[in-house]
Amino acid sequence: MDDVITQSPTLTNDEVLRYSRHLIMPEVGMEGQLKLKQAKVLCIGAGGLGSPVAMYLAAAGVGTLGIVDFDIVDFTNLQRQILHSTDDVGRKKLDSAAETVSAINPNVEVRKFETRLTSQNALEIIREFDIVVDGTDNFATRYLVNDACVLTGKPNVYGSIFRFEGQASVFATKDGPCYRCLYPEPPPPGVVPSCAEGGVLGILPGLVGVIQATETIKLILGSGESLIGRLLLVDALAMRFRELKLRKNPDCPVCGDHPTVTALIDYEQFCGIRGEEKAANANIGDMTPEELKQKMDAGDKDLFVLDVREPNEYQICNLGGQLIPLNDLPKRVGELDKSKEIVVHCKMGGRSAKAVDYLKQQGFNNVHNLVGGINAWADRIDPKMPKY
Ligand SMILES: [Zn+2]
Repeated sequence: MDDVITQSPTLTNDEVLRYSRHLIMPEVGMEGQLKLKQAKVLCIGAGGLGSPVAMYLAAAGVGTLGIVDFDIVDFTNLQRQILHSTDDVGRKKLDSAAETVSAINPNVEVRKFETRLTSQNALEIIREFDIVVDGTDNFATRYLVNDACVLTGKPNVYGSIFRFEGQASVFATKDGPCYRCLYPEPPPPGVVPSCAEGGVLGILPGLVGVIQATETIKLILGSGESLIGRLLLVDALAMRFRELKLRKNPDCPVCGDHPTVTALIDYEQFCGIRGEEKAANANIGDMTPEELKQKMDAGDKDLFVLDVREPNEYQICNLGGQLIPLNDLPKRVGELDKSKEIVVHCKMGGRSAKAVDYLKQQGFNNVHNLVGGINAWADRIDPKMPKY
């Protein structure tokens, strides 16, 4: 970092004041703070993990923060994604994140990448940074991030969360193991539920994300004992931290002695992702009860509400939509008009997601799934509606 320090030998007086609690610690000091200022960190995702990562790295004075995200802020994100506030619902996460980061520390240069990270763009984006922080929520992107980090020689600060449990480690350093040394193959699709299906304690990404941010800062400073070669396991319910020793696997397909993966591959295929899981992972096509309410109130003539529950359920409560039970949909699909904006709902969102997939296969392009089903509607829009 010597050459770097020559380029920018000082902090401004404002920066000295801002970082004074760092500067008086010998482990950071002026030298460390300048390293932070010169550091370029890429955060994959501005969601649950990305929130504390981006906010704390900005506060700590990391000079350049890249953020990759293509998603829109949704109400269900607010329970854990503290980069975004209620007023941000419906905005691009990237814009909301950049604003929050700049408000915390205007000295940070935020670089926005409004895209899904793909095998086509990952190497190019990652090459511009020193360290990558993985805040993704799906296996395909996680393997992509890992392989891209190995191929570009950038450390991968890993974190993952589910319900009450989390993991963290530092992968893909020069002599350390990578994610594939630990998990050479992804689990069969559908075996490990996503947070959207299984839930996640809102504070857990805070806990794990702060660990990732801590590891990132230590890597930049070059001090302390890194999580390289260790997998930290967090159980928030029991509040227990355990760790597993990890070794670099000489047979690892990407970082081993005779790698078979020497370029980025098709990760969706590798993870066996089918249309169904893709729809569950990406929120594209989802509609919140609030959005539906707005459209109904506006008297949108092209709006068509399709209820795919059973008749007895319809009797309990309904939104006045057309009832076609999911199992009858294939034989009654002809009753639907492709030119309408179709919002499909069931009780909780599972059957309607299947219906949306089916309708898309049948050439319906303007079709949405009501997130959380009629139960979410009852919770958030019409508290008088009976729930069952
Ligand atoms: Zn490996």
